[in-house]
Amino acid sequence: MGKGHTVTKRSALVSACVCVAAGIWSDRLASAQPPLTVYQTTLEEPGQLTREISTETLLSILATHSEPVFDVRTAHEYAIAHIPGTINIYEKEVDQIAALYPERSTPMVLYCNGPACGKSKRTSEQLVAMGYTNVRRYQLGMPVWRALSQTVQTDMPGVDYIYRGDRTAVFVDARTPAEFGTGTVPGAVNVQQGEATAANDDGRLPFTMGGFLVRGGDRVVLVDAGLGEGEMMGIKAGALLESLAALGVAPDDVTDLVFTHLHIDHIGWASADGRIVFPNATYRCAPNEWEHFMVDHRGDEAAVLEPATERFEHWTPGDTIAPGLDTLATPGHTPGSTTLVLSSGTERVMFLGDVVHCPVQLEDDEWAALFDVDPDLARRTRTALAKEVI
Ligand SMILES: [Zn+2]
Repeated sequence: MGKGHTVTKRSALVSACVCVAAGIWSDRLASAQPPLTVYQTTLEEPGQLTREISTETLLSILATHSEPVFDVRTAHEYAIAHIPGTINIYEKEVDQIAALYPERSTPMVLYCNGPACGKSKRTSEQLVAMGYTNVRRYQLGMPVWRALSQTVQTDMPGVDYIYRGDRTAVFVDARTPAEFGTGTVPGAVNVQQGEATAANDDGRLPFTMGGFLVRGGDRVVLVDAGLGEGEMMGIKAGALLESLAALGVAPDDVTDLVFTHLHIDHIGWASADGRIVFPNATYRCAPNEWEHFMVDHRGDEAAVLEPATERFEHWTPGDTIAPGLDTLATPGHTPGSTTLVLSSGTERVMFLGDVVHCPVQLEDDEWAALFDVDPDLARRTRTALAKEVI
């Protein structure tokens, strides 16, 4: 009996432990949310009039056609790239939404150019003011949609615009080589399904980060100097000297090395193995750019530029570097980002550095680049620049 009693007590103790353990476990089950995936996140901005939806929710809505999704950007932007299955109604034409969906309880989603874009916020506020009660926003917008490897659709006016206006665009013909051989878009490359890595390696999908060569009189000017020998974000670099040689330019020939800014992918060939690459060149940049990268934020850039310290001269914004080549302060991407303006008669070429990464940034000031040191200043700079060039 005593023995049995002991067993009973032990059993009770074991049971109690199991119960406690189970209690802890069930508490954990109840309280611990599984971590959100990037598809399930939103910006969660405070004080917003309408709610956001995640990429996962948007995918579900588009797959089931459960409610309309409006792209409230301009028709031009929509034609260049938009989320497939969406309806384009520009923010200033919100009455068209009311005409299409007069029922004020209609659920609907709005999107535009991403976290910093105000179009979907403004449009949703207009709709709420008109009595709509179920308006939500995909505020993550185009950049996040693209980043999560979702397809965007380009309509013919967009194809036309890109083909004529964007010299960096590569048109990929994904049909069979036999079909490709029968005729394609001029300049297109043939890349089959599964060949993307091979096409990246063999140059069918190019990504260049070199510089611009300007020759005139006795001056041989190189604007920016690529990444140098190496790799960045999977992009192989290192061909700048060969490209110059193909144009008959040896490193000794270069008289001026001019930097739009000092990010690593623009200064790479400033030095190699601790020695300057262009021994006869004067190296030039804006003074506050030097201050930023060589004094305040020393990093990889400082290591590359250090051997060239004695070669550097700094301009005052507005200075002329060489006949027909002037400096224009365009700060924001970095403190001393400078546009080099090459003029001949009535024609101009502007070497923008990273002031603008994509033509659409000149048409819509709500696009920003992730690498801008001062995004607000960069936006104001682009707005001013757009008035110059468009
Ligand atoms: Zn940059």
